[in-house]
Amino acid sequence: AALREGYEHFDPRAYLRNNYLPPRADFSSEEFVVPWKLRCLAETFASGEIRGRTLIDVGSGPTIYQLLSACDHFEEIVATDYLAVNREELGRWARGEPGAFDWSPFIQHVCKIEGRGEPWQDKERRLRARLRRILPIDVHRPEPLGAPLRPPADALLSAFCLEAVSPDRAAFQRALAHVGNLLRPGGHALLLGALGESFYLAGPARLPVVPLEESDVREALAAAGFALRELRSYAMPPALRTGVDDVDGVFFAHAQK
Ligand code: SAH
Repeated sequence: AALREGYEHFDPRAYLRNNYLPPRADFSSEEFVVPWKLRCLAETFASGEIRGRTLIDVGSGPTIYQLLSACDHFEEIVATDYLAVNREELGRWARGEPGAFDWSPFIQHVCKIEGRGEPWQDKERRLRARLRRILPIDVHRPEPLGAPLRPPADALLSAFCLEAVSPDRAAFQRALAHVGNLLRPGGHALLLGALGESFYLAGPARLPVVPLEESDVREALAAAGFALRELRSYAMPPALRTGVDDVDGVFFAHAQK
């Protein structure tokens, strides 16, 4: 209940400013956190192994950076979030409306690291075309979308959501199992998330986060029926400890149901 109340004050623009503008979104060096996240995703999708009809992104928030490498490998991308304000922010970007957040530096960077010489506008167009559904979701329900996804997703992505909406590790584990129900057996799951974080800010909202260690991620994945393929982590450099949260690092997990 306290978490739900906290999210009523979540300000998408403040969240974007805190996490997706400099200093965190600085593309001049791979040592910054945003390029690190984009590289994890770009390298994982480059194998060509993760593809199919539908990819679902859980707790998309107001962001699309996490879909930039994914969108080349799926016919449809389903974005989801608990908050209408975030779904509206995403919709503005998907429709190319004025006032939407400018993701073009992210798109340019991903095209660069993917190294295919693709004009960034082509990738932007492809993601917009494939992002056809932006649905409400609640990961605390055994059926997070209110009904099963039919057919189930071929891949599942979730960035900085499950630990940011769970009061403790048991709730994190349950939430992971719930979203796992949206994925077909054999499907791939990619998780990005915070390590050692206890809160983050989004304007007037101060959201509690369950502080995770790598071992918690491993255990939760195993308990939810996933086989771990890869786990990497990043230590937040002092220059990026800006006070918008108390994150120690970031994990990236690739697992298979
Ligand atoms: N994926 C984005 C946003 C993460 S912030 C990124 O990588 O930055 C965490 C998100 O979880 C917010 O957008 C918030 O609205 C969403 N959220 C809050 N409660 C939720 C719930 N019960 N189920 C699913 N998502 C929830």
